[in-house]
Amino acid sequence: MPAGLQPSRLTEARRRAESRLSNLLGKPVGVLQLTVFAMPCGCVGVSLETRNLVREDVEVFESKLRELLSSLARGILGKKPNVYYARLAPSRYDVVSVTGRIACDECRKELEGAADLLTF
Ligand SMILES: [Zn+2]
Repeated sequence: MPAGLQPSRLTEARRRAESRLSNLLGKPVGVLQLTVFAMPCGCVGVSLETRNLVREDVEVFESKLRELLSSLARGILGKKPNVYYARLAPSRYDVVSVTGRIACDECRKELEGAADLLTF
């Protein structure tokens, strides 16, 4: 098991992501879940389920969010994401989650056109 996947390190990574997001935005942002995923096509990534994060936050702080997700993915998966996106709630205002993904070519194209996603 890669060192990044040890339970105590994942717990710590979630906590750190929550505190970095809250400090960055100057308001309490919740990270309810940190998810490491692998898909049949070969895509892998790290996702943060967020509370109190909105579309505008992502637009204003996109480079900082990329840095945060990139350092998370490097720490856990040993690789830098090639796609970053926020999943929007049906209102298209609230952000449900932010993800850094090492995406396969096919998914990379699809993600950029997806209606419920904001790529950044
Ligand atoms: Zn894929």
